[in-house]
Formats: sequence, structure tokens, C-alpha cells
Amino acid sequence: MEYFSRHHAATTEKSPEEMIYISQKNIGISLRSTPATYLGAADEIRKIFAARCGAKASLFSFNGKGKCPVCGGKGVIVSDMAFMDAIETTCEACSGLRYSEEVLDYQVDGMNIAQVMDMTVEAAVEWFAGTDVTELLFPLKRVGLSYLHLNQALSTLSGGELQRLKLASYLNCNGKIFILDEPTDGLHMDDIHNMIRLFEEMVDAGNSVFLVEHNLDVLGAADYVIELGPGGGDEGGQLLFTGTPEEMCSCPQSITAPYLITESTKS
Ligand SMILES: [Zn+2]
Repeated sequence: MEYFSRHHAATTEKSPEEMIYISQKNIGISLRSTPATYLGAADEIRKIFAARCGAKASLFSFNGKGKCPVCGGKGVIVSDMAFMDAIETTCEACSGLRYSEEVLDYQVDGMNIAQVMDMTVEAAVEWFAGTDVTELLFPLKRVGLSYLHLNQALSTLSGGELQRLKLASYLNCNGKIFILDEPTDGLHMDDIHNMIRLFEEMVDAGNSVFLVEHNLDVLGAADYVIELGPGGGDEGGQLLFTGTPEEMCSCPQSITAPYLITESTKS
């Protein structure tokens, strides 16, 4: 375990509401929502369509007035089969797009609402440049989730992706204590380095960041490291080392030190 902090938590009393714990599991996200709804960008997108097309914002929702009348906005038709499991087939009326034909006739700069909602975060941040949509979606880019589609069901995300999504919604905070459980889990090397930069920015903004981590790059970038061991489960729980990563490298009791030394000679 380790943390990044230039603002020692012990010197100021923190109330529980200033503590933000982000685990990989059960993190209070409705899996029926999407990246766009989770960060509030979907409402803004509907407002832009409404203003540009001269129609009501509620028309541009497949949960509202814009839903396909055949499938009711589900995109699929569920057929109950006697004595067998129900069968789901793509709705022929909307081709699975969930919207009514009337809604899809409205376009903003050559794109209808279904095409816009199918954009990746990366594409949408560009397309909506200068609007609140870009502001709302930009945190997803910062946490390495720019490849997600705006309409992607959150149930398709991994534990690590959900954790980064939740982190994205807190990026404007300062003076908070963050606790994250293996936030780099499943990330590509480049994205791990982006995350390290992000943690440093969060600390510079006055937050304290505690991470439970095994990644050596993250460990080497920490201001302070607490190593527990020597093994896992019943064989762990002993305090092996506390201090900076540099101090760790010269600590004979540390089990991690040899790996950290090898890693630091690589770079
Ligand atoms: Zn339909």
C-alpha cells in the first residue's frame, strides 16, 4: 500500500464526507446507465439537438418521447416462447437504434441523435468542442476511457474501467482524501503513465491519494510507500517498510525492493 501526498492528512482533521473511497466492486453506478448519462452529457446533447432542430429536448430520448413505437425504445423485440427461454431479436422498425423514425430525421451538422450517441468519447470531445458536452466528457479522456462509446451500457465495463469512470466524476475536487483499490488494473503501459500524471495533478490540487497497488511504476512514483507482507492472506499483515521509494531500495527487509531496483534501472 502506498500514497501520494504532499499534504499530510495527519496535520488536518478530515471528516468522513471528505473521504472518497473508490473500489472496483459495487461502486454505486447503475449498470443501466451509459458514460453519457453518468456524467450528465446526455442531457446537454439533447438540449443542443432541441435548440438546433427547434424541437423539444425530451424528443431526443429513447426513454422518452423519441422511443421507437414498435420496441418501446429497447431496440429488441422479446418473443415469449412456450416452454422455452424468451428470444430477443433486433427490432426491424428501428434496426436496434431505439429511436423513432421522426427523431432520426432531425440532424445537427449531418448527424442524427443515434449517430452522435454512438460516437466514442474521443470523437465527441472534438465534435462538441466549445460546448458543455466537451467539458463534461473531458474527465473520461483524462482517466484513459476515451475509447468508450457514449451509449455503451456500463454493464459492459470491467471493474477497473468502472473505477476510473467513477474517478472521472471527482476530478474537479480539491482538499479530499481519495482511496483507490488497484486503479491501474488492466491498463496498458501508456495509460498507467497517464494515470500517474493524473494522480500527481490531483495531489497538486490539494488532494491526498491513497492507492492499494502492485504496479512498480506507480510505486516508484509515490511520495510515500507502506509495504505489508511478507505473504498474502494469513501470511501477511506485517509491516515490512515505510518511507519513500528511494529509501525502500536500500531496505534489506523489503520484499518489493529488488523488483523496484530492477524496474528503475530499466527506465
Ligand atoms: Zn425499435
